[in-house]
Amino acid sequence: MNQDKTIFSKIIDREIPAQIEYEDDKCIVIHDINPRARVHLLIIPKKEIPSLFELKPEDKDLIAHMMLLLPQLATAQGLDGFRTQINTGESGGQEVFHIHIHLLGN
Ligand code: AMP
Repeated sequence: MNQDKTIFSKIIDREIPAQIEYEDDKCIVIHDINPRARVHLLIIPKKEIPSLFELKPEDKDLIAHMMLLLPQLATAQGLDGFRTQINTGESGGQEVFHIHIHLLGN
């Protein structure tokens, strides 16, 4: 096992379990282990980008793909509204340094 991997890469590689809601070739969507709303999903790219600070122009299609998934996921969860959050950097409240979008809704 590669110890440098983020916890999210370990989930992607099925080295640790998670409640997986959706997966495709570019990203995985899991239920947050500590939900702060009835629905709390994490949209995580398979590419290990630490945070928004490291996002490159070449990642624009990936980010667009993740954004376009949000309403689909929300609708599938029965939500008619939702919030999104991207914590960035330690002072921005980021705990896992593998970029992800929180989707929250009640
Ligand atoms: P952030 O503060 O934006 O980095 O958020 C990291 C999120 O990942 C937190 O809401 C955690 O509850 C969640 N989290 C951490 N470990 C796991 C895990 N093994 N499975 C699911 N969610 C996790």
